[in-house]
Amino acid sequence: MSITMVGTGYVGLVTGTCLASMGNDVTCLDIDKEKVQKLREGHCPIYEPGLPALIRENVQAGRLHFSTDRVPAYQGAELIFICVGTPSDERGEADLTAVYQCAKEIGQAMEEAPGPTGGTTDDTRPKIIVVKSTVPVGSNVKIRQAIASETSKPFLSASNPEFLKEGSALNDFNKPDRIILGADEPEAAERLRDLYEPFVRQGNPILVMDIRSAEMVKYASNTMLATKISFVNEIASLCEAYGADIDEVRRGMCSDQRIGNQFLYPGLGYGGSCFPKDVLACMSMGRHSQSPTPLMESVHEVNVAQRDRFVRKIEGHFSESLSGKRFGVWGLAFKPGTDDMREAPSVTIIEYLLKKGATVDAYDPVATDNTRQIFGDRISYHTNDMDAIEGADALIICTEWREFRHPDLTEVRSRMAQPVVFDGRNLFRLDLMRRHGFVYHSIGRPSVQPD
Ligand code: NAD
Repeated sequence: MSITMVGTGYVGLVTGTCLASMGNDVTCLDIDKEKVQKLREGHCPIYEPGLPALIRENVQAGRLHFSTDRVPAYQGAELIFICVGTPSDERGEADLTAVYQCAKEIGQAMEEAPGPTGGTTDDTRPKIIVVKSTVPVGSNVKIRQAIASETSKPFLSASNPEFLKEGSALNDFNKPDRIILGADEPEAAERLRDLYEPFVRQGNPILVMDIRSAEMVKYASNTMLATKISFVNEIASLCEAYGADIDEVRRGMCSDQRIGNQFLYPGLGYGGSCFPKDVLACMSMGRHSQSPTPLMESVHEVNVAQRDRFVRKIEGHFSESLSGKRFGVWGLAFKPGTDDMREAPSVTIIEYLLKKGATVDAYDPVATDNTRQIFGDRISYHTNDMDAIEGADALIICTEWREFRHPDLTEVRSRMAQPVVFDGRNLFRLDLMRRHGFVYHSIGRPSVQPD
């Protein structure tokens, strides 16, 4: 099939590459000329394990193309996937400006095309315009209207929310737990089922439903996961207040099969490009429909408070005065396996430290370039973990990259001016840190003083 992905970001690039790898002819379109140029020169603009090699393979095979030229990309495609960003606006609502812009441009390109189906090929089947971006329930109807207001040519609509996780995106896309297809016309569902069949050969389901329900599945899934994170963080706070240990509590709680053990790790709260904005978008859907969402509001509040609590812990240790203190920060990306800094807890924490007059020396295995775009020269960047803690008054761990899990703690201690660690990811056992002579603060566990 000839496919155009509109928006070559984390979702569009991964999806387009994986669809190409199944033999489809895919054009990844973007308005960002620099990004497209980079891709054409063989550079992958995001960090995603395995992606650069797969891109290379498919480009060489002539199945994957990158373009900024939207008219041919729209006209030549049987399937168009809208994968542009839908960030929160200042009121917490999903900003669909980019989605509607694409819809309008798709309609215009179809109208200008010579053929009856809005394409330059002699294909007689109508195009399917698929919304993969996460959009509030009911948006697909409006997107359809926005396209139809620009063209009289026939087309089909579908919603196909995406569930890939940054850091394991290829595996998630190639072996999805489920594929959700929202389609009101059977033809759209059938043609998309054909497209996705190679990805579910092991029997995972393709679930076809009405468009509104498909839109809701995405929000319901993300807010459920966000709820688990806020829940365990709230329990962790209670553990701290009452001297319990969240590790033990987790062990006890998660051995109940009804509860399970996924997404129940305490930390600095959820970040990234999806959970924060999707929880806010759900709250806003509630406001618009007079269907209150008190649970989601609490999930959001707990998440914001979690970063605050962590910062208070740092302040508490240094008796409120952070001015002139030097902090080494390990991990900047919002989670391991990605260079995505959107809503990363590290940003809130570093901003706070800088505001209080502290200096920051940071290290992340892959997110330094993106962090530099946020902080510029307000912090120092290092190419390894040990250099970032040289002479530091404390180490702060914001992201649980594998390489931080088993450092040489004797060297860590000897590099630092003071042996103090604030671990936002509970990477180390308490007894280990005590034995190595650290003052060790983590989440939901008693603070440790050296023996
Ligand atoms: P992104 O910001 O990484 O990429 C969006 C891309 O769209 C950018 O490259 C931008 O230049 C491009 N763009 C904007 N307007 C355009 C236009 N008119 N024409 C062509 N390109 C245009 O976004 P993302 O993280 O890939 O997310 C895309 C959507 O998928 C969002 O709705 C998001 O909620 C959803 N989603 C994201 C993830 C994730 O892990 N990132 C997972 C599932 C779903």
